[in-house]
Amino acid sequence: MPYLHQPEDLDNLLEGEPSYRADQLRDWLYRTSVLSSTDMTNLPAEVRSRLDPLWPFDVEAEQSADGGTTRKWLFRAPDGAAIEAVLMGYPRRATLCISSQAGCALGCTFCATGQFGFERHLEAGEIVAQVAYAQAFLRQIGMPGTPDHLTNVVFMGMGEPLANYDRVREAIRRMIEVMGMSARSITVSTVGIVPGIRRLTDEPWPVSLAVSLHAADDDLRSTIVPINRRYPLADLEEAAAGYFEKKRRRLSIEWTMMDGVNDTTDQATKLAAIASRLHAHVNLIALNPTPLTEETASSERAIDAFARELGRRGVNVTVRNTRGRNIDAACGQLRLLVGKPGLKPRV
Ligand code: SAH
Ligand code: SF4
Repeated sequence: MPYLHQPEDLDNLLEGEPSYRADQLRDWLYRTSVLSSTDMTNLPAEVRSRLDPLWPFDVEAEQSADGGTTRKWLFRAPDGAAIEAVLMGYPRRATLCISSQAGCALGCTFCATGQFGFERHLEAGEIVAQVAYAQAFLRQIGMPGTPDHLTNVVFMGMGEPLANYDRVREAIRRMIEVMGMSARSITVSTVGIVPGIRRLTDEPWPVSLAVSLHAADDDLRSTIVPINRRYPLADLEEAAAGYFEKKRRRLSIEWTMMDGVNDTTDQATKLAAIASRLHAHVNLIALNPTPLTEETASSERAIDAFARELGRRGVNVTVRNTRGRNIDAACGQLRLLVGKPGLKPRV
């Protein structure tokens, strides 16, 4: 499983082979990703057979939606951990949403991943292999009307990336230093692990940062995002401001719209103040249903009114379209199909 090796350390895996073989392999793994080691045409069959299995997971299910422009993979690690990734194609963009953990320990009330609890951290190689797999898919199979390579990677699948800091850091390092992706094309989405934001501030890369806020005062936020009790809003805002000061990358604030919970004028007013101070862009997402969530999505009218209120106060705001709702690939739904063996692809 070569992705579980450090890219700089592939000579060890190919012991006994001339050293240029490691360079060739590094190219295949991280530059010209391919779905199968048999596609690594300049490597002798004997070397290729030593690379199997190529991926650190099996592809247990693959589904597509939105006319083939959304594709979800359920990968299964040998220990049974489920890893999900979703590829979303657009005319000039291909965005991959990746997982950083199997499950999540943070228990946000409205999130399917959180509701099922924490399984384990993903290794750096398991994170970066999701990216390489999607690259290989785009290059060798392709998606209608979509570039043949990834343009963006977002840590918005399962898990809290800053709760798995060192492995996520190493995955980001490989994407930038070995795969050649630009830091700004990578977005780390966090629910607000303040020490993690501070560490990320000290890294050399200006990756994009998204903060999942969902509520603009501590009383409300602590009820839907439990980690807010540990890292309250004032601390979170200070850490996010520090990131912006250092990187000069526009922050985004994610806000899942829940009927009667966080779609009030009062919340819009408080959110506008925070977003203005942080120079942040606000993304509004209607809540996607999950089995254990009591909250329901805000109505379209409520979302429009909320967006207008933010706009009136000078805040940049986007209402995000949901991709992949019918295949449970939308935000917060990634965990739904896991643990249902025998799932058949619906491609
Ligand atoms: N743990 C990180 C990244 C994964 S969650 C975080 O929370 O930011 C990715 C995004 O999906 C977050 O903004 C999260 O709040 C949002 N999300 C979770 N459950 C959702 C749901 N049921 N409907 C819509 N968005 C949801
Ligand atoms: Fe974890 Fe993010 Fe879901 Fe909260 S929203 S439970 S932090 S994955």
